[in-house]
Amino acid sequence: MPDDNAFDLIFRQAALPGEARPVDIGVRRGRFAAIAPVIAADAPEVVVGGRAVLPGFVDSHVHLDKACLLGRCGHLQGGLKAAIAAVSAMKRDFTVADVHERGAQVLERAIAKGTTRMRSHVEVDPRVGLRSFEALKALKRDYAWAIDLSLCVFPQEGLTNDPGTEELLVQALQNGADALGGCPYTDSDPHQQIARLFALATRFDVDLDFHLDFDLDASWMHLDEVCRQTKAHGYGGRVAIGHVTKLSCLPPQAFARAAERLAEAGVAVTVLPSTDVYLMGREATQDVPRGLTPAHRLLARGVTCSVATNNVLNPFTPFGDASLLRMANFYANVAQVGPEGFDACIDLVTALPARLMNLRDYGIAIGNPADLIVLDAPTQAEALAGLAEPIMGFKNGRQSFSRPAAQLHAPSQPRAALRAVAS
Ligand SMILES: [Zn+2]
Repeated sequence: MPDDNAFDLIFRQAALPGEARPVDIGVRRGRFAAIAPVIAADAPEVVVGGRAVLPGFVDSHVHLDKACLLGRCGHLQGGLKAAIAAVSAMKRDFTVADVHERGAQVLERAIAKGTTRMRSHVEVDPRVGLRSFEALKALKRDYAWAIDLSLCVFPQEGLTNDPGTEELLVQALQNGADALGGCPYTDSDPHQQIARLFALATRFDVDLDFHLDFDLDASWMHLDEVCRQTKAHGYGGRVAIGHVTKLSCLPPQAFARAAERLAEAGVAVTVLPSTDVYLMGREATQDVPRGLTPAHRLLARGVTCSVATNNVLNPFTPFGDASLLRMANFYANVAQVGPEGFDACIDLVTALPARLMNLRDYGIAIGNPADLIVLDAPTQAEALAGLAEPIMGFKNGRQSFSRPAAQLHAPSQPRAALRAVAS
């Protein structure tokens, strides 16, 4: 008979969101097996000491295939179009080994910053073929000990205007792609692209994730068409749209109507603060707009939202450490979210992207995989405000990283000498 009180590991005094007092968390065979004020059992222990514990960050939108390219192309000032063109030219020379090496750099940073689940978009078209996809499939296997990587293949440079792309997407979907992305704003026939992608998604039974729009002209948008197709295909809860920067410049009533349509259709929104703030509003000479869609306001209107990394150290975003705590902090700062909204900002990089990605086994609950991180702060809100470091992380009950606390090295001087200096 298995012993119900036997654990492989016990975390002591973990501060969980919503719990008034720290709790103990027992792990058995890689899964959470008990959560209680005190677990009276002997097992190897990790003393959390009242620090904030989360089930790891969930990055719902990253581009591993085109990360870490700055050294190759220099710095560009041309905005979105120049960034797409620069990567388009470079990706002809991408090799599987090259993409694997750059993607690994981002994954290792993400793991060490506490991310346990990630969706990476990966470009598939006649210029790069399936090379980036093959590299990311290898990364998914190579780093499964620390992170669950989901692969979303997509046509960055258009579908209906780029012959051969759809056939490559089909090959990827037949060979391990987890989700299908889109980019109607670069297509010569955006609505036809949306229709083709819904047809492929339903054929392969995968979720959809569009780069929907990326400008500040609210006189037109594809949002209604995506909501319409989502309802027509019964795909509510399986469609996400990213950037959607047009929503950032809608007046309140139009914003409320858009939020209502998204919530009703079951379409989720991902905001990419670093890229959006870096690329939007470049035509302005003063009073530069933020160009950042207020995810917390959509959330308050019933829309599933996430905040994510997008690009790391490339022409789209020459910044990045793959830290979602930093990104949530940056979002809160730019979107003018005060302390009353800090818990919601943590939700935007944890439970909400898990919902967006339909990760049904995410969270610190009995039976789920024992994934957790410990932040060097007493609450998640304080961790967000002060950018507390994640000091350790576990995946399926096995430790995946540790970060010793920084030590200050003050000069050691005898007290008498100090007094002499003071006088
Ligand atoms: Zn993106």
